[in-house]
Amino acid sequence: MAKVLCVLYDDPVDGYPTSYARDSLPKLTHYPGGQTVPSPQAIDFTPGELLGSVSGELGLRKYLEGAGHTLVVTSDKDGADSVLDRELADAEVVISQPFWPAYMTAERIAKAPNLKLIITAGIGSDHTDLQAAIERGVTVAEVTYSNSISVSEHVVMLILSLVRNYIPMYQTVVSGGWNIADCVSRSYDLEGMHVGTVAAGRIGLAVLKRLKPFDVNLHYTDRHRLPADVEKELGLTFHSDAASMVPICDVVTINAPLHPETEHLFGDEMIAKMKRGTYLVNTARGKICDRDAIVRGLESGQLAGYAGDVWFPQPAPQDHPWRTMPHHGMTPHTSGTSLSAQARYAAGTREILECFFEGRPIREEYLIVDGGKLAGAGAHAYSAGNATGGSEEAARFSKK
Ligand code: NDP
Repeated sequence: MAKVLCVLYDDPVDGYPTSYARDSLPKLTHYPGGQTVPSPQAIDFTPGELLGSVSGELGLRKYLEGAGHTLVVTSDKDGADSVLDRELADAEVVISQPFWPAYMTAERIAKAPNLKLIITAGIGSDHTDLQAAIERGVTVAEVTYSNSISVSEHVVMLILSLVRNYIPMYQTVVSGGWNIADCVSRSYDLEGMHVGTVAAGRIGLAVLKRLKPFDVNLHYTDRHRLPADVEKELGLTFHSDAASMVPICDVVTINAPLHPETEHLFGDEMIAKMKRGTYLVNTARGKICDRDAIVRGLESGQLAGYAGDVWFPQPAPQDHPWRTMPHHGMTPHTSGTSLSAQARYAAGTREILECFFEGRPIREEYLIVDGGKLAGAGAHAYSAGNATGGSEEAARFSKK
């Protein structure tokens, strides 16, 4: 029987919810393009409940304990004496969400001789040293598509928030003010602007589709070009790389995975290629941007705004400069963990576990690393290597 170690974010400060804002979620059967939503044999939770925090347990306890396995759930994941480190020695499966990532570095993988499977409950497995997983023969799987649409909705919200200057306007109201000139002196219409996405995978394409009705000019770059009929329908302009796309854009949105090719892609050099006053939205991964170059870009006015929900490391230390830089619209890492998304990736995690324990193949589209190499979705979107360097900094965050 196996030990499953599950790292989840803390419960709400006022305790685990006893009621919710809405009574049900819309029922989806397929994602755009036809992939079916997760299909475990059963689930032991009510969709719409908070599943991603410690007491939610991703709805897994009844299933795992019923099958004789041990489930350990903790939020204590950083520092050498963390529960994660203490429990790793005999863990066979480690599960965590990118919002509160268990950084599975080479050192941690080496400390876990029984480890066979690392599951990302969500999308984006850069918090695992993929090179180390490849070398140790550990399978890495994620719940592909589970929150891609959630993030695409968030991207559109952030683009509009920055361009229209929504956050300062909201703050004006909350603080009792009414100075309209203050509110609008940085407020523009999105209509007619040039918007470009770095990557047009599941999220990037969904962003392009959602922006089409805003009558903007749409651009993208990706390692693989989209089908010609999709380019035509959306009126897309393809660019061979980010460096050739950004000088044309008023808004740039980053939707690529973090891997050695994309780490620090947006530094001083890339930002200098942009039009003065470009808005940059990054819900992909914090480390795709150079932390201090973003601050410099905002302070000089080269960037008119920066928004997103992804940081490095996570949780971000209290003195992380993105908390205080000008004209930002940052939130904690939340866009892919709406209650709607949680229901899908909790079910997907259960599906992956059922396959693993019953010796059935895990869906190709969920695989990132398998059999000692990049596999499935990972072989398409990632490059081998390690993007976890510096993750020990996460231990500097102190809970208030
Ligand atoms: P997909 O795999 O569908 O799309 C990723 C796309 O990125 C692919 O089209 C891939 O290209 C492309 N890509 C990879 N490397 C490069 C590169 N160097 N330059 C340009 N394009 C590149 O994933 P999703 O769209 O679902 O998710 C994308 C990322 O968003 C995730 O990896 C994750 O990091 C992040 N994410 C964030 C969430 C949040 O809560 N903030 C939640 C979910 C995801 P190709 O496959 O054509 O080679």
